[in-house]
Amino acid sequence: MITDIRTGVGFDVHAFVKGRKLILGGIEIPFDKGLAGHSDADVILHAITDALLGSLALGDIGIHFPNTDKKFKNAESLIFTKKAKELVEEIGFSINNIDVAVALEKPKISPHLLKIRENISRILELSVDRISIKATTSEKLGFVGREEGAFAYAVATVVKKVK
Ligand code: MG
Repeated sequence: MITDIRTGVGFDVHAFVKGRKLILGGIEIPFDKGLAGHSDADVILHAITDALLGSLALGDIGIHFPNTDKKFKNAESLIFTKKAKELVEEIGFSINNIDVAVALEKPKISPHLLKIRENISRILELSVDRISIKATTSEKLGFVGREEGAFAYAVATVVKKVK
């Protein structure tokens, strides 16, 4: 059995603003600010989407879902992630695992991590033990430390049985 294994990386940043819900991994997190963006600005799902697209050199989230397109205004980012999964599967690959590192000073998201992983598990139809999310602060340094925004990195590994 030969297995073709590919890996992609995704990175995303959004700024905090008043008056928006904070959506991370498709889950609303109680907080007095949300992330600004054309869609729901879900920094975790955006990073995962780019990692999936990157694993098979399928471009990036901005090419597939331009922020000039009105239909993506305030869109739930799970539609981007689901589409990236479909594109991966159309080429005969399946997702092996996802790993995410998200950085934000506040709020603490560790109490929500299992719920976020379970939600991504539903979105990707992938068992929860194959979805890792790790949260960190940036030790008060930079824009994350000043509580101005959040960023996330994601790595996705996809596999295809060749013979
Ligand atoms: Mg984004």
